Amino acid sequence: AVECVGVQKSFDGTPVLRSVDLAVEHGQVLCLIGPSGSGKSTFLRCLNHLERIDGGLLRVAGEMVGYREHKGRLHELRQHEIARRRADIGMVFQSFNLFPHMTVLENIVEAPMSVRGIKRSAAEEDARRLLDKVGLAGREGAYPRMLSGGQQQRVAIARALAMHPKIMLFDEPTSALDPELVGEVLAVMKELAAEGMTMIVVTHELGFAREVADTVVFMDGGYIVEQGAPAELFANPQTERCRDFLSKVL
Ligand code: ATP
Ligand code: MG
Repeated sequence: AVECVGVQKSFDGTPVLRSVDLAVEHGQVLCLIGPSGSGKSTFLRCLNHLERIDGGLLRVAGEMVGYREHKGRLHELRQHEIARRRADIGMVFQSFNLFPHMTVLENIVEAPMSVRGIKRSAAEEDARRLLDKVGLAGREGAYPRMLSGGQQQRVAIARALAMHPKIMLFDEPTSALDPELVGEVLAVMKELAAEGMTMIVVTHELGFAREVADTVVFMDGGYIVEQGAPAELFANPQTERCRDFLSKVL
């Protein structure tokens, strides 16, 4: 579902991703961990067409990021092509990013209606199903400010799912939450993983990674330093840097 070969990205000449290689199979969950500034968010943003890569090759859901192939040649994507591909990629941020002036229901139906052209009645029916799924049945009329952080983040997940994405990207989805609200968001993500959603999750929740991830990737300084099954990587980190990081987070 995701293929990444030699991906490079610099900001003003400073490399942030230095030849990143990784692969995520359909239905798998990859957890990305690493210290602040190691390039985790930048990597997710590249996958979601929010940043342009400087080198390497990136494929998401079978389609190249940034380019399309035509008669053996690469052509840069146009804006509407980028929008179409981005619609297949769900993204959830640390800061929820709900539209504050819209109700929960409006937040969820907005993109399916405007981007996918779904009719309001069908979009609302799907939104109610999704609200039920994230444990918020009956809250469709609420405004974001009336909800707890954990509830807002579950609405954000429902909103992303309303586009029926092929893959979900999460960037520290529980980092802004009070500790007692973390579990309800992780539970929704866990259920999503169990249903076979392909997911890349940047997180410091190592318990979640241990339980849910197929692969854990440790990134530092723009490099993938280690990757492996969680049980293996957590029990037996091969590098000093990874050992050091884990000892701080655990
Ligand atoms: P954190 O755990 O703090 O979220 P991260 O691993 O997500 O860190 P990134 O946000 O990807 O790290 O940032 C990697 C590096 O790239 C940092 O040094 C950051 O300052 C730099 N960077 C990110 N975005 C930009 C930008 N738009 N312009 C310039 N530098 C940037
Ligand atoms: Mg980040």
